[in-house]
Amino acid sequence: MNQEYLRAIPKVDELLREPSVQALTEKYPARTVTDAVRAVLEDLRREILAGGREPPPDKAALCAAVEAVARRDTLPSLRSVINGTGVVLHTNMGRACLSERAAEAAKNVARSYNTLEYDVEGGCRGHRCAHVEGLLTRLIGAESALVVNNNAAAVLLILSAMAEGGEVIVSRGELVEIGGSFRVPEIMETCGARLREVGTTNKTRLGDYEKAIGPDTRALMKVHTSNFRVVGFTQAVPPAELAALGRSRGLPVIEDLGSGSLLNLARLGLRDEPTVQESVAAGIDVVCFSGDKLLGGPQAGIIVGREEVLSLLREHPLYRAVRVDKMTLAALEATLRAYVEETAETELPTLAMLAQSPETLRMRAQRLCALAREAGVDAEVVPEEDQVGGGSVPTQTLPSFAVAVTPGHDGVDALETAMRLRERPIIGRVAHDRYLLDARTLREDEFSCIVDALRECLR
Ligand SMILES: *Cc1c(COP(=O)(O)O)cnc(C)c1O
Repeated sequence: MNQEYLRAIPKVDELLREPSVQALTEKYPARTVTDAVRAVLEDLRREILAGGREPPPDKAALCAAVEAVARRDTLPSLRSVINGTGVVLHTNMGRACLSERAAEAAKNVARSYNTLEYDVEGGCRGHRCAHVEGLLTRLIGAESALVVNNNAAAVLLILSAMAEGGEVIVSRGELVEIGGSFRVPEIMETCGARLREVGTTNKTRLGDYEKAIGPDTRALMKVHTSNFRVVGFTQAVPPAELAALGRSRGLPVIEDLGSGSLLNLARLGLRDEPTVQESVAAGIDVVCFSGDKLLGGPQAGIIVGREEVLSLLREHPLYRAVRVDKMTLAALEATLRAYVEETAETELPTLAMLAQSPETLRMRAQRLCALAREAGVDAEVVPEEDQVGGGSVPTQTLPSFAVAVTPGHDGVDALETAMRLRERPIIGRVAHDRYLLDARTLREDEFSCIVDALRECLR
């Protein structure tokens, strides 16, 4: 039986000559169509040999399969999605969305020669971080600033330059794993530094750090417990006290702030997220944080602090290996300008999405829901609680509203999959057998695309 089916498979050339496959070469590169034909026929052969298939599909079905493969192969792999999860800083979906100004700035330097390391006034070589250093020091009130590839690289550079061959004292309650195998103890080892743990998981006092200081101590370090909270009977040493201890013993104090917000977000309902300015004002010598978490800019690791310490980092060989590119710097400069001009909360999508009132969100959900119903979709607006994401403020949620779609007979998982597999993927959540699209991370200009998708996927 298998042999018979195998003989029935058309040859590559034969299928390529089919008029409907020929027509595909007007839409797709010839090479893509040929590759798709080969892939489809190869799959078919494998299925037959595995005994998993009854008679091979007819030519029309094969042509449709070829088109599907060609379409999939020409789609960019890294492409935009519609985020219906309500998670503003979704690490798997690229974290912060750039502002128009930041995206435009990145595009401009990407397409032309630029002043990356060229000092136009002096007509000589300049420094790439000069474009953002002034903005950062002004906004944060720090002596000096430096930007690297991401915050993990910032921590790596700081520890390598400051603590190689020595000890760094960290509270047991702050030995965090950020995800993607970024763990404080392992980073420490990679940098050739020894981790000296002090205190307990829930309580660490100043005296614990003090007692651990010895001849090999190179620095004291605080790590923001971004993605978890120890609640209840807890105690941690405030930055100012640790900074004072470091000063009195001649030891630098490092703080990895994780998200590192420049604004107090308590107004938005997000409490306990320290600002970078507070850490610097408390006397911490080196503070590092991410560019694409609550700051709302491109992926970057921003380091601010005392010039004496930062000059060590600039001279370290690792600095060259973790430096940022021109597009990132352009986007970061534009992002920081929004803070200087005090337009950050409306201009930067991250902050704007977080700042939306429940009333605004309810109205947006209602508009989407009305459009979906007009298209015959069974949907209603339901209240939701949103995580911020990106390992920020883990115990707090923001009130929101979502459109909850009741799926057809294929079930909710089939709907979720079909929405996700579209050319413009739509990512929603499943809860209690309904498909949820949260208004917080949706834009009005995405509504018609969403409604078309729902209509087609539910048909
Ligand atoms: C997110 C985070 C990091 C890693 O930052 P990236 O910019 O993703 O490299 C490091 N430390 C803390 C505390 C974080 O929250």
